[in-house]
Amino acid sequence: MSETRRGLVIVNTGPGKGKTTAAMGTALRAVGNGLRVLMLQFLKGSWHYGELDAVAAFGDKFVMKQMGRGFVKVGGAETDPEDVKLVEAAWAEAEQAILSGEWDLIILDEINYAISYKMLGAEKVADVLKRKPEQVHVILTGRNAHPSIVEIADTVTEMREVKHAYQKGIMAQRGIEY
Ligand code: ATP
Ligand code: MG
Repeated sequence: MSETRRGLVIVNTGPGKGKTTAAMGTALRAVGNGLRVLMLQFLKGSWHYGELDAVAAFGDKFVMKQMGRGFVKVGGAETDPEDVKLVEAAWAEAEQAILSGEWDLIILDEINYAISYKMLGAEKVADVLKRKPEQVHVILTGRNAHPSIVEIADTVTEMREVKHAYQKGIMAQRGIEY
């Protein structure tokens, strides 16, 4: 295998657990190889996630930003315009970050949800992915990845749920779920 650097578009989707955490695992691997990583969390905010504190230790080599406000009410007229504004602002930052070439890996966490809830147009995202600088890697997470994004992506993984502790009534565990 040659060592030629080629930026990949990676999609982590499907109903099973592991989409965001797999992206963070890749980020750790990237940082260890000297790559600079930006993770923008499209819908998350307000809740406290352990990874925010852990990542702070990496300084400007691995930056994680919560762009939402944590709880999003969605579905047609139910979608709060305030949340749409936050998604639009998150996308503006993501677009700038991808096209700037300043980051080696950009993770757009939960962006697939924002697209499937029609808070963000899939065509806008697809257009930027097609125009991205050659060497930039992008990971998009969230269920129901849009077909046009899947089409552009190089690597797509669908997490399949075999079982989840939640179904047994076990609540989200600190350090595992958040
Ligand atoms: P993780 O952040 O643990 O990798 P994820 O990104 O695959 O999960 P999301 O769809 O973003 O999953 O869901 C967010 C939250 O729901 C997380 O706390 C996650 O652990 C939990 N979760 C994920 N999959 C399931 C499932 N199949 N049933 C119940 N809860 C789930
Ligand atoms: Mg997730």
